[in-house]
Amino acid sequence: MKHMNIPFSPPDISEDDILAVTNVLRSGWITTGPECKTFEKELSSQWMGGYRVAVMNSATAAMEITLRMLGVGSGDEVITSVYTYAATINVIRHVGATPILVDVEVDGYNLSTEQVARAITNRTKVIIPVDIGGYPCDYQRLYQIVESKQALFTGLPRSRIFHHADRVVILSDAAHSLGAKIGNDMSGSLADFSAFSFHAVKNLTTAEGGALSFTDLFGVSTDVIYREVMLWALHGQDKDALAKTQKGSWEYDILFSGYKCNMTDIAAALGRSQLRRYQQILDRRRELYKRYRTALPEPLYMDSWDIEVERQSSFHLAIMQMPGVREESRNQMLRAMAESGVTCNVHFKPIILLQAFYDLGYQQLDFPQALKRYQESISLPIYTQMQDEQQEYIIEKLCENYKNSL
Ligand SMILES: *Cc1c(COP(=O)(O)O)cnc(C)c1O
Repeated sequence: MKHMNIPFSPPDISEDDILAVTNVLRSGWITTGPECKTFEKELSSQWMGGYRVAVMNSATAAMEITLRMLGVGSGDEVITSVYTYAATINVIRHVGATPILVDVEVDGYNLSTEQVARAITNRTKVIIPVDIGGYPCDYQRLYQIVESKQALFTGLPRSRIFHHADRVVILSDAAHSLGAKIGNDMSGSLADFSAFSFHAVKNLTTAEGGALSFTDLFGVSTDVIYREVMLWALHGQDKDALAKTQKGSWEYDILFSGYKCNMTDIAAALGRSQLRRYQQILDRRRELYKRYRTALPEPLYMDSWDIEVERQSSFHLAIMQMPGVREESRNQMLRAMAESGVTCNVHFKPIILLQAFYDLGYQQLDFPQALKRYQESISLPIYTQMQDEQQEYIIEKLCENYKNSL
């Protein structure tokens, strides 16, 4: 085949998306306003099982606000996976809590629920499971574990609104899993809180953006939680910019020192436009994933997400495993693919290998599964505008380069 240049994950922007954005630019209202409110309602009713949704500027902000809202801080522990992007750990540190890392399950990229069970102490306030590649974690098992350890839980004494919490909270890092499901339950309705990302490389994009979904919890209504999220997202200000434009209502109060991470109507319009074709986006990603998985030469393989009925992925990543391969050979394969014009990637470098987290004091021996998955894996390009012949080219180059590496 003729040489091709194939990017890893370019954004899928249609003419309708561009029109949606220019319409907002012409409308006279560009920051948080009607587009954001409608985007929240559409996400909730169509994609998050009716859970309430608040949009903001990133998944990172959605997770950090959740930890703040719960009053998590110094002396508290938050359990999460060693196999994730740094954002998941950074938010725990930003609020002053201690990240407790666990390994991934055998033959998977999601955290080991058995290790979560062992890691829970009387300091644990939150667990952050990460739906790697859009494949949902075992939330049912996580809730069983949290309930079985209820006696250890000591409450959320620093929260402004959660005064009667009686168990550890589950906050899903659902950055990858918009549209994923377990049975009939959509991602966004599987945990107490779920944080989604609309960053440029994610399945649905607003360039930068995110959303938090939630339901009523510990006797606190979704309306109260929503208002609290909005306060945290805008300096603790009791009226947003749009509310202040109502006649005679200039005056506001600042209730506490919140953050500044609201979404703009420009971004929301882009998100809404993408949402209209999101089912097609999911279908195409599934098709590409399936083609890769069935075409890979032995012993290369991908987890069989495309044939699972109960747990449905959103196919954010196409991670290929090269069993028994050492990190150096994996990197050689990445270089060979790059020379063939195909940009690949690795998701993710386990947290403990990153300089910023050396001081957590973990050792590589503590995470054998994550390290094995990491050193044997390559993320292949997957994006909706990929043409079939581009994918055939990638598969051909994979076969060639793999054979040459033996
Ligand atoms: C992208 C990503 C995030 C962060 O999302 P932002 O919207 O960029 O804050 C968090 N967790 C995981 C696993 C991600 O891939």
